[in-house]
Amino acid sequence: MSYDDEVLKYIDSHKSEIIVLMQSLIQTESVTGNESRIGALMAEECRKDGLDVELVEPAKNRTNVVARYKGTTGNPKVVMYSHYDTVALGDPTTWTHPALSGEIADGQIWGRGANDDKVGTCCLTMAFRAIRELGIKLKGDILFTHVADEEKGGKFGFKYLMDNGFGEGYDYFFSAHGGSGQTVGIAANGCRRYNIIVYGRAAHTARVEDGVNAVVKAAELIRRLQVLAYEVNKREYPLPDTDTIMKSRFSINKCVGYVSPNTVPDRCELIIDRRFTPLETWEQTEKEIKKVFDQCKADDPEFCGEVSMDSNDWYELSVAPTDSSIVKSIQDAAEKIVGFKPKPAGGSHSSDHGFWSSKYHKPFAGYGISGSISHASNERTKVEDVIKTTKVYALLMLDLLGTN
Ligand SMILES: [Zn+2]
Repeated sequence: MSYDDEVLKYIDSHKSEIIVLMQSLIQTESVTGNESRIGALMAEECRKDGLDVELVEPAKNRTNVVARYKGTTGNPKVVMYSHYDTVALGDPTTWTHPALSGEIADGQIWGRGANDDKVGTCCLTMAFRAIRELGIKLKGDILFTHVADEEKGGKFGFKYLMDNGFGEGYDYFFSAHGGSGQTVGIAANGCRRYNIIVYGRAAHTARVEDGVNAVVKAAELIRRLQVLAYEVNKREYPLPDTDTIMKSRFSINKCVGYVSPNTVPDRCELIIDRRFTPLETWEQTEKEIKKVFDQCKADDPEFCGEVSMDSNDWYELSVAPTDSSIVKSIQDAAEKIVGFKPKPAGGSHSSDHGFWSSKYHKPFAGYGISGSISHASNERTKVEDVIKTTKVYALLMLDLLGTN
């Protein structure tokens, strides 16, 4: 029997163990900022697989698990990534099955992180376990990185690992993440967030003429920014050698200015979420916003405030080749399990792989088949898709890393 067949058979006969790990990951709350418990759980899982485990904690409760596998030849060297932090659980009354339950109903596993991205963490682990338990030796090395902080910019997670040289000498980066199964991710927008504060002067409403209303001043700024937003949101970048059109994104996602019901507000805060394609640079995104802001100042002597880029919450633009070995291995593995070769594609989302590709300029790819409900109530994944994902990841490891 070929290694491929052995591994697929092993996975079929260990379905319940795979689902049990998936459930314990979901049941271990790990909203971004609180990643120590899930880090401990994953460190234990990786130790069971004989991996050389290191816990990297850039700050209290911010645990990342780095686990190394030494292959027989050390060629190639592959980073295999998942993130185990999640967005907030949301309003409990909107969940059919509780967010931390990991319940199985209607053939699906329910809970926060089911797609984003505990399916990645679970399936990478179980794929490798299948290979190891069968005594198959891989040629290449693997650096498993199960990380924190993806949902908030990666400063305490994957960005920290890249800044501290953990990716040095590696040839490929694989992102294990929930997804549609239709595409292999090879590009993503960069992202910058801008905080704007508009200042006014507080006054009692009874003496409104003594005040400068920061909300009203911000309203004019928003009107003008939205003119820019309409223009930016039409910008498109056809990603070469793919069917993908990457889109620039500009959205004003916060406007808060309030003191009390009887006070003219002296401050109004805005946040702009700006995603950019290879057609643009982040410097350009800043320049465009500042230009609108400065024009408000020039036109209104009372207008005052500041614009700053959020230095803790941003992602690099990433674009990788469509014909790399990692893309081919994913396509071949997926074809055996889902019946077709997923196409390379780019997206308007941003993620940790930008920190890899901007630093090392080496191929990366991402793949997942668990569906696309994330960041919302009733996040869930088909049991069957968790098994299929494990199979694809195992076949990918065999093909990309090679066997003796
Ligand atoms: Zn994610």
